[in-house]
Amino acid sequence: MKLTDDITVLKGIGEKTAGLFNRVGVSSLWDLINYLPADYIKYPETVKTESVVPGEKASLKLTIKGIPQVRHIRRLSILNCQAFDETGVITLTWYNMPYLKKALKPGMTAVFYGNAVLKNNTLMLTQPRIFKEDEYKNDSSHLSPVYPLTKGLNSKTVNKYVLLALKGVDLPEDFLDENERKELELEGLRESLEHIHMPENEDQIKSARQRLVFNEFCFFIKNIRALKEKEEREKNPFFIPESAQAARYIETLPFKLTDAQTKAYKEILSDMSSDYVMNRLVQGDVGSGKTVVALLSMINVIAAGYQAVLMAPTEVLAMQHMKKLSEAGKALDIECVLLSGALTEKEKKEAREKIKNGEARLIIGTHALITDLVEFDNLALAITDEQHRFGVGQRKALSDKCKGRMPHVLVMSATPIPRTLATILYGDLDISVMDELPQSRLPVKNCVVGKEYRKKAWDFIKKEVEEGRQAYVICPLVEENESTDTENVTDYSGMIRDALGDGINVGMLHGRMRPKEKDRIMEEFSDGNIDVLVSTTVVEVGVDVPNATVMMIENAERFGLSQLHQLRGRIGRGDKQSYCIFMNNSGKEEKSKRLEIMNKTNDGFKIASEDLKLRGPGDVFGVRQSGEYLFKIGDIYTDADILKKASGYAERCGDRIPDSIAGSEESLYGGIL
Ligand code: ADP
Ligand code: MG
Repeated sequence: MKLTDDITVLKGIGEKTAGLFNRVGVSSLWDLINYLPADYIKYPETVKTESVVPGEKASLKLTIKGIPQVRHIRRLSILNCQAFDETGVITLTWYNMPYLKKALKPGMTAVFYGNAVLKNNTLMLTQPRIFKEDEYKNDSSHLSPVYPLTKGLNSKTVNKYVLLALKGVDLPEDFLDENERKELELEGLRESLEHIHMPENEDQIKSARQRLVFNEFCFFIKNIRALKEKEEREKNPFFIPESAQAARYIETLPFKLTDAQTKAYKEILSDMSSDYVMNRLVQGDVGSGKTVVALLSMINVIAAGYQAVLMAPTEVLAMQHMKKLSEAGKALDIECVLLSGALTEKEKKEAREKIKNGEARLIIGTHALITDLVEFDNLALAITDEQHRFGVGQRKALSDKCKGRMPHVLVMSATPIPRTLATILYGDLDISVMDELPQSRLPVKNCVVGKEYRKKAWDFIKKEVEEGRQAYVICPLVEENESTDTENVTDYSGMIRDALGDGINVGMLHGRMRPKEKDRIMEEFSDGNIDVLVSTTVVEVGVDVPNATVMMIENAERFGLSQLHQLRGRIGRGDKQSYCIFMNNSGKEEKSKRLEIMNKTNDGFKIASEDLKLRGPGDVFGVRQSGEYLFKIGDIYTDADILKKASGYAERCGDRIPDSIAGSEESLYGGIL
């Protein structure tokens, strides 16, 4: 069997099973082997009914008693069945699995593994999996992989076919020979595939994972290098010199550019006036002042008679950029146009028209820029802001919109990674690192506190507002739901409004509001008409209101640390002292410990690495990242060392890394083999 063969070559996979696999994106044997477990479970020893602990998972050897009953509540079907052992009786319950009724014969003995619950004084085991006795003995002797599943496929079935495929397929020869493996401290390819799908212990998972992450990084690096080679030959179609307008604009700024900003700007200028088209990343942590660098680059392009476009990941951010750039545009007599999902069809059409006929010179937008039917007149610069919110693939989509002449490409990212890693991950881009914050900044003061501190925090906000400043309060939810211990924006804004009293203007912002309404609120906040903004994480990226000095985060324990870092980045942007209050509403001490990391460092990379370390190994495995990097298992923070290893290897023996079967034109990711 070959890796490219359809999964139906495996004995037992007919059309129906193949259909189920297709639904999770598995159609070839290669897909199947690349379909990795999200987690592993170790089935526990069986216990007796009398020692079951409600709220925990348990395995019990039970005998079925009486006839199973199926009830229906609206669209839900509930199958109940009594079972017993020598110490007591327990009710087995399955939802929406009425067909199990036939399998549950009175008198039958089996092992049941499920969630134990106590409901109306009845002990129940919900959604239990059923095992024959000897089957359970075997399954509980090792770790069982848990695959991300679709209805109709269970992990055991998936695993069975994966192992069958591994046994029968011709795997490519391991591109690492024995010496190299020894040197790199990595195991063989076949070994790692077998261990990842059928490990005997945790150590095997760990070492298998290392090898496969190495592979994944190698394929990525290879693809990204190929991309660079292709692009480097692109001649510069748009020669952009430094303009008088840009120089004048710098003089009107209320601050002096930092050295890092000046350096990045000079590098951009030199790129855009060189023989080749620009492909540059400006990387700088939140608040380092990337926007002004982008704006200066755009001004030069426009002065040279071309169009420039800036794409932002959210409506709120696009709107904010529009506002800032229009101000600058007005002074320089440049027409700015916004194209975002928030516009009506008619407005969009008008915007597209202006972009096409060249009337619009400075263009701001969201995804709408790549999805809508936008045509440019003479685009010479495409900028993506907050690249870490887009995928690596999307970054190319904007410049690819220009048939014929490639525009200069500038991406701005706040992914906090050190330069060594950035050069590897953005191998196809030249990099400017802005590792300096404007000097006027004071470090944010932090505290981690419990719910009982809320009143004090509100008093503090009140005091800051009375001194002319503004505050953000972040809640995880939009509206109330079942989990009562999680704050929501809707109720909270009412609560805080009452507490703060009449003189203070409280506004509310969340993702479910209409785009126009969001714009209005954001505008009022940035104009200072709203003093306290109660918001969900829609303000997480890019939002810039320097007069805001307090960030209070309710249920901070529910957010990832990197997310908290981005949120905190909204304050400390002016020259006033800022304060970040992390509320741990859970009452649990260990959650505070995790939040204390925010207290200790303001280094985004450290925070992200710690964040991942603190999750269990199983979690790390299950994390499916969103945003910039879509590695299947590799993680740029926890696997930074492997990334360096892979890069070193690619440097020395790049030719030996094979083309991954998945390595297509569009995808930079090659999977694990
Ligand atoms: P980010 O890098 O997070 O995108 P911004 O470009 O939004 O940061 O800049 C953050 C804030 O700092 C803005 O209010 C901006 O006007 C201000 N700023 C930018 N450069 C400087 C500077 N050199 N000195 C002082 N403030 C600056
Ligand atoms: Mg920004």
